[in-house]
Amino acid sequence: MSTDRATRKGLLLVNTGNGKGKSTAALGILVRAAGYKFSIGMFQFIKSAETRYGEHIAAEELGIDIVPLGDGFTWLSDNIEADRALAEKGWQRVQAVIESEQFDILILDELTYCITYGWLDETMVLDVLRNRPPWMHVVVTGRNASPALIELADLVTEMHLVKHPYREKGIPAQPGIEL
Ligand code: ATP
Ligand code: MG
Repeated sequence: MSTDRATRKGLLLVNTGNGKGKSTAALGILVRAAGYKFSIGMFQFIKSAETRYGEHIAAEELGIDIVPLGDGFTWLSDNIEADRALAEKGWQRVQAVIESEQFDILILDELTYCITYGWLDETMVLDVLRNRPPWMHVVVTGRNASPALIELADLVTEMHLVKHPYREKGIPAQPGIEL
């Protein structure tokens, strides 16, 4: 089995839908790929710089950086310009790491919101993803993936909400399951 860039077909994966599991499925790929010593970068839109969940601690032990793109500012603020600026700054970082070719697998967690809320220009985002190196796998997560993103993607999975403990019973988020 080859893990060489020369023989690899880079895929664009999209995990979307209103059920839980989109980001955890992306983390599953991170763990699986780490086993082959792939170089992996995970960038989290929507998350703040203070975010430190189980995955951040575990990834650190694997030598993988999970980067919340919050920078101390708040996402989903009342000020759309502030949200847009944060998204653009995050996207510049993503573009830079695509150009630097440092990662075999790039995970863009909750990127769909930046498109849904109009913080990032969809055509521009899709052009960057389309023109990435042909060996680079990219995983995009978030609800409401747009038709154009779905069209561009190679693998799309929609998580469908059947039951959620908070919705059914008011059970709060559990460490190890949701954070
Ligand atoms: P996870 O990060 O657990 O894989 P996700 O990426 O699929 O979840 P998001 O849409 O990013 O889901 O939501 C983040 C959090 O919101 C998750 O911890 C999830 O359990 C929680 N959540 C999802 N659906 C509901 C719901 N109907 N009621 C309450 N909380 C929910
Ligand atoms: Mg998520």
